[in-house]
Amino acid sequence: MIPAAFEYYAPRSLNEAVSYLASHRDDVKILSGGQSLMPLLKMRLSKPAYVVDIGRIPGLDGITEAGNHLIIGALATYAQIESSELLKKKCPLLPQTATTIADVQVRNRGTIGGSIAHADPAGDMPAAIMALDAEIQCTGPNGERWVKCDDFFLGLLMSVLEPDEIVTAIKVPVTGADKTAYLKAAPRSSGFAVVGVAARLALDAGGTCSRAAIAITGVADKAYRAARVEQLLTGKKLDAQNITAAAAEAARNVEVVEDINGSAEYRKHLTEVYVARTVEAALRG
Ligand SMILES: Cc1cc2nc3c(=O)[nH]c(=O)nc-3n(C[C@H](O)[C@H](O)[C@H](O)COP(=O)(O)OP(=O)(O)OC[C@H]3O[C@@H](n4cnc5c(N)ncnc54)[C@H](O)[C@@H]3O)c2cc1C
Repeated sequence: MIPAAFEYYAPRSLNEAVSYLASHRDDVKILSGGQSLMPLLKMRLSKPAYVVDIGRIPGLDGITEAGNHLIIGALATYAQIESSELLKKKCPLLPQTATTIADVQVRNRGTIGGSIAHADPAGDMPAAIMALDAEIQCTGPNGERWVKCDDFFLGLLMSVLEPDEIVTAIKVPVTGADKTAYLKAAPRSSGFAVVGVAARLALDAGGTCSRAAIAITGVADKAYRAARVEQLLTGKKLDAQNITAAAAEAARNVEVVEDINGSAEYRKHLTEVYVARTVEAALRG
């Protein structure tokens, strides 16, 4: 289908983009890679009067190191993330996650900022950045603010982002010796996670888990941290018995969604299986 008519604006600076958003905040959409927005426009599920294409603003796609952190520009594509030697070395969970997303075409266009701003409950990047305790830089008419990713996502396609704010960067830690992995169960047709699990584990010299971060996507109306699983893994040797016992808590007290890809019961079971598999994959390195 053809989208409804809209005014298209492609600013060359962040200031211009923010001013435009502020003057049209009630009926405007930001366009980045277009991999979610374009289908919505074409199906006329979204009919904004104004579209601001931020893809030509220079300087928003860098991947740089800053002390113990890495700053990833919102316009960095999945393909850039997947192939970044810096990320592979310093924060491999992000390239591990990017490689699982869709296909080459989508990864060439889709951006990390777009994925996070879109807040798709089956999106892969939201889980990865949650396991990393990332912060999200949002820039609007009043300047920039950093939002902890635990506070960013509110629910199905909803976040704390204001209509005149742009996600401009994501800050993630250098994960050093931590062990990380991202695994998902996804139908071949869409590639979207029925269940996706991101794990980051720190082990002490004796091999005991000293810190665990487990984030899950595809299961609820937004990605979430499995706090009980993390508690059960921490302070333990990560043998099969302890991993299975912890994984059994992965969807406890979670309102599990159901759709054509699976019932709530099936998803809950898959979540437990995938949490265990992801922890084991992280340990294998
Ligand atoms: C065939 C196909 C398969 C897919 N498979 C997967 C998959 O396996 N896993 C997965 O996670 N995703 C998948 N996706 C979705 C896709 O990865 C992301 O949703 C998409 O790439 C979002 O980034 P974008 O740059 O394309 O954003 P756009 O489509 O341009 O925008 C998405 C939304 O975010 C807003 N937005 C975009 N950028 C910003 C910004 N910087 N600041 C504020 N708001 C912004 C837009 O206004 C819009 O509402 C798939 C998409 C397609 C078409």
